[in-house]
Amino acid sequence: MEKRAEKIRIVLVPLPIQGHITPMMQLGQALNLKGFSITVALGAFNRVSSSQHFPGFQFVTIPETVPISQHDTLGVVEFVVKLNKTSEESFKDCIAQLLLQHGNDIACIIYDELMYFSEAAAKEFKIPSVIFTTGSATNHVCCCVLSKLNVEKFLIDIEDPEVQNKVVENLHPLKYKDLPTSGMGPLERFLEICSEVVNKRTASAVIINTSSCLESLSLSWLKKELKIPVYPLGPLHITASATSSLLEEDRSCIEWLNKQKPRSVIYISVGSIGHMETKEVLEMAWGLYDSNQPFLWVIRPGSIPGSESLPEEVSKMVSERGCIVKWAPQNEVLVHPAVGGFWSHCGWNSTLESIGEGVPMICRPFNGEQKLNAIYIESVWRIGILLQGEVERGGVERAVKRLIVDEEGSGMRERALVLKEKLNASVRSGGSSYNALDELVNYIETEYSNS
Ligand code: UDP
Repeated sequence: MEKRAEKIRIVLVPLPIQGHITPMMQLGQALNLKGFSITVALGAFNRVSSSQHFPGFQFVTIPETVPISQHDTLGVVEFVVKLNKTSEESFKDCIAQLLLQHGNDIACIIYDELMYFSEAAAKEFKIPSVIFTTGSATNHVCCCVLSKLNVEKFLIDIEDPEVQNKVVENLHPLKYKDLPTSGMGPLERFLEICSEVVNKRTASAVIINTSSCLESLSLSWLKKELKIPVYPLGPLHITASATSSLLEEDRSCIEWLNKQKPRSVIYISVGSIGHMETKEVLEMAWGLYDSNQPFLWVIRPGSIPGSESLPEEVSKMVSERGCIVKWAPQNEVLVHPAVGGFWSHCGWNSTLESIGEGVPMICRPFNGEQKLNAIYIESVWRIGILLQGEVERGGVERAVKRLIVDEEGSGMRERALVLKEKLNASVRSGGSSYNALDELVNYIETEYSNS
């Protein structure tokens, strides 16, 4: 598409945590390449540096919001509730300022589904708005299903094995017991958030960072249910390469990977939020050691509560066979020929990034949404192993060998490579995600010219 002479503006409102910022900035980059001006509205306390990698973007501050540090103390649900309460009026001021500065050039506000306060400003200033779902389409389906449940009844029903194993409204293999409620605090509060997320208010479309080759059933379900356009235009990390790491990437691990044999290394990361108990870390370390495979392990500062670093016996053993970094350039790691598998918490970005490079996975999810992704990885796409129950060294050793050494792992890698090709084809000219992006662009332009 030609760049237009006079640019129109899109305001992006990301949730300021890593797994949400990254795809939002990639969406911004993709839309910027289509000729839109991009303004990103962020709270004063977040850690994204505007000068980092987005030279064409304007950054504005929502003055009154909640520090990201409260995400850890409050937990995700209470953090999101507080953030939305605090930011609504402040964001209206922010948009008023932008309109004063630039005239009436805002074509659309695209906000993270958890930043639903944005809608009030869009409504007040009569600006079209679009919701961005950074998780999977299936997770959004689950939010719709959960938002309609009666909490008391559900809590009783879900004790019944028959209900647990019932498939959700023709969404095979999704069962009621898989609905992503665990790790989200009290069910009632979580369902309130689900209702906010599925309440589209005046938003006129939904963007999802997925591809129809991964989740066609869930996407068809959503298209019917939501009754507004749905644009599955992902995975955005292939379309746009913008990195927006909140932590400094340690690139020394790439040199270490350069010295390893092809497809021999297991890469381990639990994302930007996950924590691990010391006991689990020790069992993992011994299991990895016993597997005889080299490993690259991301241990974020603070990710093992109560420990500053690994115990000395483990550090010594790790230095023999592994490499530990505080934060890795994950996409570069996954594309590296030495990497044979990814031990992951199955955040949606990590899942897309791993499939995007054809890397099979060992799944060790923490919360419901990640468990949902893990079920798809193991049972639908059949490109990984789900590790359940307590982690012990024998289980870790077996899982690593199954994935990296055994025939079974070769099969998973073959299927992951087929999916990789499909994903790449979907973002190339004529592919479903490529077309969805173009349709979104046309849609925003039409909405703007009609407004
Ligand atoms: N990531 C990274 N380096 C690391 C670990 C993670 O760049 O050492 C990135 C990863 O590429 C992904 C994001 O952090 O884009 C994590 O998002 P995800 O949805 O997988 O999990 P979350 O952090 O939201 O739980």
